[in-house]
Order: sequence, then C-alpha cells, then structure tokens
Amino acid sequence: MNFETLFIDGKWTDAHSSERIEVEDPATLQIIAKVPAGNQQDVDAAVEAASRAFEPWNGTSVSERILIVERAKDILNERLEEILDLEVRELGSPVSWAKNAHVKGPIKRIEHFLKVMRRFPLEEELSKSRILREPIGVVAAITPWNYPLGQIVQKIIPAMLTGNTVVLKPSQNTPLTSYILCDAFAQAGLPAGVLNLVTGRGAEVGNALATHPKVDMVSFTGSTVGGREVSKLALESIKKISLELGGKSPLLVLRGADYETAVRRAMDSVFYNTGQTCAALTRMIVPREDLPQIEKLLIEGSSSYLVGDPKDEKIAVGPLSSRKQFDKVKKYMEIGISEGARLIVGEVPKDPEGGYFVQPSVFTNVGNDMTIAREEIFGPVLCLIPYTDEKEAIRIANDSIYGLSGAVFGPEDKAREAALLLRTGTVYINEGRWDADAPFGGYKQSGIGREGGLFGLEEFVEIKTIFDK
Ligand code: NAD
Repeated sequence: MNFETLFIDGKWTDAHSSERIEVEDPATLQIIAKVPAGNQQDVDAAVEAASRAFEPWNGTSVSERILIVERAKDILNERLEEILDLEVRELGSPVSWAKNAHVKGPIKRIEHFLKVMRRFPLEEELSKSRILREPIGVVAAITPWNYPLGQIVQKIIPAMLTGNTVVLKPSQNTPLTSYILCDAFAQAGLPAGVLNLVTGRGAEVGNALATHPKVDMVSFTGSTVGGREVSKLALESIKKISLELGGKSPLLVLRGADYETAVRRAMDSVFYNTGQTCAALTRMIVPREDLPQIEKLLIEGSSSYLVGDPKDEKIAVGPLSSRKQFDKVKKYMEIGISEGARLIVGEVPKDPEGGYFVQPSVFTNVGNDMTIAREEIFGPVLCLIPYTDEKEAIRIANDSIYGLSGAVFGPEDKAREAALLLRTGTVYINEGRWDADAPFGGYKQSGIGREGGLFGLEEFVEIKTIFDK
C-alpha cells in the first residue's frame, strides 16, 4: 500500500502538499511509514469531490448502499491480518488485544450498522404530516488515534449509509488503517467522491474542514480541548456538530459488592489499550474501611498484566502511543506524588528506552480534588478514592467536568439506584457488558450526540416535516 497518497474522488492521488508526517512504531521508535501532511488545497479537492458526489449518492436506494458497505466489510474481513499488523505497529497495541478491539470489533460494528439501517425509519407518519429523515450533506469525520479503525467506522459507516458523503481526517499518529478502509471501499465499487481521505494535522486539515463552506457537518472524536476549538470554527457557519470527547469515568464500589470482580473490571478497563480508552474507569471510588482490602487485590492482580513487545501474544500492555503521550503520563504521575497520593503499583517511568513503555500503576488515597482525579491522564493509571457514606460516593462520582461512562458494583438493587444517580452517558452494573447496538456518548464536557446503533444513524440525518394531509 502506498501511504504517501490521498484518496480523493475515487482515486489514489498525489497530495498538493509535499510535506510528510512520519508514523512511528511506539514499541521500537522506528519510522514505519510517511503520510502526506495535507493542506488547504487537498481539503478543497476532497470537499469538492464529496460535494459533487452528494446528490447522486443521496439518489441511490438504501439497499444499493447496504450492498456496497457489505462488500467492503467482506474485503476488510479478507484483509484482517494486514490490518492487525498495522494496528500493532502504528499504535503499539498488543496483538492479543488488537485482534478483537482494533480489528474484528470494528468490522463487527459495520455489521451492526447494516442490521440497524435495514429497520431505520426514513419516513414516519404523524396525524397531519410526514417526517422524513434526509442526509445532512458533506460530513467531515475527524478521528483520534486510540482506536484508529473503530472510531472511523463509528462515523463513516452510518454517515454513508444514510446518504451523506464524507471527508475523513484520521489522526496523524495512526493514519495507516484508514488507507486499507478506503481501498476496500474502492474495490467494493463505492462511487467516486463518496468517501475521501485527507491525512494531516489537526491545526491544518482539521481546521480547514471545520471552516469549509461546503462542509455541512463536523463529526469529531478527540480531546475536549480539540473538540472545543473545532466547534468554535464550525459554528461560524452553523454546521451540525457532533462531539465524542474525553472522560474521567467513575467506578463506584458499594459496600457488599464483589470486590474481586470490581477490581478485575477496573484493571481491565484502565490497563488494556495502555489506558488510552476514553471510557476507561479511572476513578475507583471505594468504601474507606475496605480500602486496604481493595489495595491488596489491586497489588496482587496488576502483576498479571504483562508489559512488553506488542507482537508477543503473552503481552497484555503495550507502549503508550507516542512521546507526547509518554511525557504527559509521566508528568501526571509526578504531580500525583507531589499532591500527596501514594503509588502502590507501578512506578514513574524514566526516559523511554527503546519504546514508550509505562507499568500499570495505581495511586491510593487520592482526593477527588487532586489533579490526577480531575484531568484525563490517558495512560494505565488508576486512582483509588475512598468515601465514607454512599451519598458522598455519588457526589464524588459526579464531581467532574466529564460524564462519559461509569460503573457501579454492589448488591443489585442498591447498584441500580446508584446507576440512576450517575450523570454519565453509559453506566455498567456489575457484570453488565458493552453492546454494539447501544448508543455511546457523553454528558457534560464529554461531548454532544451519540454514536452506535440506531442513535448513531440518527446523528447523520436532518429531519424534514411535510404537511400534506
Ligand atoms: P485530539 O483532540 O488531539 O485529536 C483528535 C483529532 O482531531 C485528530 O485527528 C487531530 O488531528 C484533530 N484535531 C486536534 N485538534 C484540532 C483542532 N484544533 N482543529 C481540528 N482538528 C483537530 O485527541 P487525540 O489525542 O487524538 O485523542 C485522544 C482523546 O480522544 C482523548 O481525550 C479521548 O478521551 C478522546 N476520545 C473520545 C472518544 C469518545 O467516544 N468520547 C473516543 C476516543 C477518544
């Protein structure tokens, strides 16, 4: 695959920009590819192509669109090993985790969108009118690096199925799998211009998309800081905006909970993907009197998360994705110690040697006012926050600018009551597990809108009311 091109108007095209961005393997610090640092001219070409393709694409039937997406999904399934190899190398994700989380999972999501699109009501009758769901137009999809393929699928599949055309700007850190995706759609017979790829930096390509007069919607997943900037630009021309942003999600442990299960869930959530998961349950809020027992379970349990070469099947935790991420996590761990939290698992990393590796880490005696409890660290760092009574526990859980996800462990009835009080977009109770048809998104500064399932399709349509009765 030639990564030094862009996918515009159905063709692999040379970029106007001659500048390249290096893609680094964070486990070896080797440069594995270079992609164009797209510029305004590249964005203009992609948006023009998407704009030209809109009317004919909107004119196709839902079943034609479903057929093309289905074909692309089958091609992706045939290229599983190639995608896996790229995710392991561009993100540093351990092969054992990447297989499902970064490859099979995103392809399964395509299947889910196909399923819900078949029953998505494009037309509904009211007593005196009809409601039509119509595509918005040209969608700019701006995505992060932490689940490269998954975050792209969440946007471009529902956008195209509902009749929109797309300009995709993947993260400059992990752009490689988006090349396979576009290639699969080209082979599947997607008409020219329906999907376009412009790689590059947020400040350049992202901003050019957010301000482009022919872009009708910006669908952004990334940091709250980035989302705020993009939104301001997009609002200038009142584009539709959807935002999937950061989190600092609570895992609330009630008295009487199964502590072993709660601890396993916390560690899985915070250590896998090296803690680089927006919905990671990074604040574990626990009964003060049982803090020593929970600390002991965490100390014993953490040793099973082996850190190392992501190509090794036994490894559970790979490197952080970049030097920037490594420095950020290191800085937060130093701040945690300086603010009085106690590190009981892991250590503050020294300078990276050979890769951006950090040990799974747990801080205890964390106050919810400490920096490490308030800000998103985005590394394998869990904070244990003790509470005295359950009212205080709920208050701590909700005392955050974020509201992405949450979990409650405890006796069923009490856990259900607590779940209703959490101000977060998703809440897991005990063994409750994620479901690809369920909507995902945040309260408060974790975002605007929802992705996934029927709600994910709903994000990409305008509502038209026709009075004809
Ligand atoms: P980021 O905000 O730095 O970048 C995200 C994307 O936006 C990238 O493609 C980037 O190039 C672009 N971008 C950044 N600043 C921009 C700007 N000012 N204008 C236009 N485009 C801009 O985020 P990241 O570091 O890539 O990803 C990590 C963040 O994403 C974390 O905060 C994480 O919680 C969040 N995230 C949220 C979800 C969710 O569904 N809520 C999912 C995954 C990641």
